[in-house]
Amino acid sequence: MDRPFVTRFAPSPTGRLHKGHAFSALTAYQTAKDANGRFILRIEDIDPTRCRPEYEDGIYEDLRWLGLDWEEPVRRQSDHLADYAAAVDALRERGLVYRCFRTRKEILDGIGHAPHGSADAVRPGPHSPDEEAELLASGKAYAWRLSLDRAHEALGGAAWEALSFYEEGTGSDGESGWVKARPETAGDVVLSRKDAGTAYHLAAVHDDALQGISHVIRGVDLVEATHIQRLIQALFDWPAPVYRHHRLMTGPDGRRYAKRDGSVTLKSLRESGTTATDIRAEAGFGA
Ligand code: GLU
Repeated sequence: MDRPFVTRFAPSPTGRLHKGHAFSALTAYQTAKDANGRFILRIEDIDPTRCRPEYEDGIYEDLRWLGLDWEEPVRRQSDHLADYAAAVDALRERGLVYRCFRTRKEILDGIGHAPHGSADAVRPGPHSPDEEAELLASGKAYAWRLSLDRAHEALGGAAWEALSFYEEGTGSDGESGWVKARPETAGDVVLSRKDAGTAYHLAAVHDDALQGISHVIRGVDLVEATHIQRLIQALFDWPAPVYRHHRLMTGPDGRRYAKRDGSVTLKSLRESGTTATDIRAEAGFGA
């Protein structure tokens, strides 16, 4: 592969960083250095309800403390919502997305329960033209969902079957090498949220292409996202990066660090005397 090596760390400022983030950021950073490549920091702050400026400041503070540096200016996704809206528009013109006015609860009630325990793996389908016209007139908010059926038609059966990504790390089943993409496991994903005008998969894939990311290095918890992200790339004819999903760092109790479990943050570790060298060593990166 003769693409220049470019990787990124793309946190969402929805809380302070913990050791799991440190491991991910250090892995991407060190891999870029070893490859004489570029390391990009990207702020994925499209969720208006959960993202906060003080968490973004915290990301810069914590990563500098860990000894990382990155290219400026940093791309903040909230500054580029028009780019993502234009991408959704392009799919709309091709008939690949549909308006969805339903709430999450309505969708789940409609199918009895969530398949795979996830509200995202649903395929509610378009509203009837009459219903859609009525809902539009009522001013109700709506999301844009990708239609897997239409995407399949647009790509063509052979290209759909051939859709795959290259895994240099560890997939969820420990697979590596060429992995067949199974976008259907994600359902008709939302590409533009009611409240945000875009959504994670679209914004992430758009920016990976725009920033020339050759290697996506991120936790194995995101491997499932790769299947639908690969489809979005194919629909836009964007190049597919190589993926290196890495193991998740676990705490003394054997559980992975996660924001929602209130894992100890880098900030509080620092304040109680832990050094950046300690964190780097624990993550397997020498001083
Ligand atoms: N913004 C995502 C997160 O914080 C990561 C996206 C990615 O690496 O693709 O979980």
